[in-house]
Amino acid sequence: MRKRKALLFEMGRSGRQGYSLPSCDVPEKPLDELIPQNMKRTEPPEMPELSEVEVVRHYTELSTRNFGVDTGFYPLGSCTMKYNPKVNEEVAVLPGFAYLHPCQPDKTAQGALELYYNMEQHLKELTGMKRFTMQPAAGAHGELTGLMVIQAYHRHRDDHKRNKVLIPVTAHGTNPATVTMAGYEVVQIPSDERGNVDLEALKEAVDENTSALMLTNPSTLGLFEEEIIDVAKVVHNAGGLLYYDGANLNAIMGYTRPGDMGFDVVHLNIHKTLSTPHGGGGPGSGPVGVNDRLIPFLPVPLVDKIDDQFYFDYDLPESIGKVHSFYGNFGVVIKAYNYVCMMGAKGLKQASTDAVINANYLSSLLKKNYHIPYDRIRKHEFVLSAKPELKKGASAGDIAKALLDRGFHPPTVYFPLIVEEALMTEPNDTESKETLDAYAQAMEEIARDIDEDAEKVAASPHHTVVGRLDEVRAARNPILRWQKE
Ligand SMILES: *Cc1c(COP(=O)(O)O)cnc(C)c1O
Repeated sequence: MRKRKALLFEMGRSGRQGYSLPSCDVPEKPLDELIPQNMKRTEPPEMPELSEVEVVRHYTELSTRNFGVDTGFYPLGSCTMKYNPKVNEEVAVLPGFAYLHPCQPDKTAQGALELYYNMEQHLKELTGMKRFTMQPAAGAHGELTGLMVIQAYHRHRDDHKRNKVLIPVTAHGTNPATVTMAGYEVVQIPSDERGNVDLEALKEAVDENTSALMLTNPSTLGLFEEEIIDVAKVVHNAGGLLYYDGANLNAIMGYTRPGDMGFDVVHLNIHKTLSTPHGGGGPGSGPVGVNDRLIPFLPVPLVDKIDDQFYFDYDLPESIGKVHSFYGNFGVVIKAYNYVCMMGAKGLKQASTDAVINANYLSSLLKKNYHIPYDRIRKHEFVLSAKPELKKGASAGDIAKALLDRGFHPPTVYFPLIVEEALMTEPNDTESKETLDAYAQAMEEIARDIDEDAEKVAASPHHTVVGRLDEVRAARNPILRWQKE
């Protein structure tokens, strides 16, 4: 058994002190005069007494238990955990940005508005869309905004029958959730044997009730939709629109654009693709771009320019309204803008090249020991199936925990649902060959361990600070407060 680390409450010893204040140089009032008797507690609170160095060590030690991009390889599929250049942080806290007040008149915030304006031009170029709103705070928020824009478009045309949104089975989980939130019905479209959208099934599913098709391309299997132009035609011919979940743009920057594939609405996860920190709940930014016919429905305000003056434009009568206070998470946009300017067009294309090469290189190494369904050239990620390993006694979840023992963050597990015992792996563009080799080596060792002693692997992790957790109990019966015994 691992020895549990002592809590601050257990470490405390009476009389120790973590602070020292200068003596008071004004007359002190008796406490009774300051706090009325009926508001005072009857017993003093039980607080641990500790020295400053004990507290510093305690929290510093706890901080090293966090796993992050800055501590190790993080191949969490679909999440694009790439390196976030630290210079972005410095730029975002420049006083001119950091001390801006959101209620300042446009005239006195020209630099910030210019940054928004320029960022929009870059995103248009990158995606082939015509206008962007920077308001949505994350990918899922962008999805909801995009679907509301689509809804407004159909309603504006007095087309009220369209109550269904089609989603391939390879979609990210937020897609069906968003569709439901927006008041639509989800219609699932199966994949064919190459992992593409099943075109025949799509043709059968579209009708006058189809509002839109939501698609990630490349899909969460890391596969590029080979028939995307035909897919777009089928949906458009039925009067539906195409929604592009651009969270996977890291795979295609500079090579192809959703606008050129026929998509009407796009959201980007700039906290993934354009390298701003995410995880642990944000902050993120999920700008939404649209083609010409959907511009009138975008949230207000948009950032515009007359002569050399930038301003917030509220003059959009068909707008769905606001989806975020002020104009979204400005700090995240600054970091992404800095990244885009640093990389340039060539650099962004190189990032996608590297992401794709890394995914194909790593999958080719892992193929020796693991089964990879839909085995063809992929884009930014690939999905292993640990079904054979499960037969031997170790599941995808067990393999993930065995990776923790070897110092790696595990891939995304049990997703997408169409692959049994899925381990969805996205190495991203910022990792070296040596790191990928070390990861492949760890996976090979785990495969060997499963052959020798699957039970031991299934009891992983063995070397982490905390051992195997009862995940259900941890969620259903969380103990979040220390209680004196
Ligand atoms: C991450 C992701 C989302 C959701 O983005 P959030 O910013 O986490 O809300 C949607 N779709 C795909 C494909 C993603 O990878």
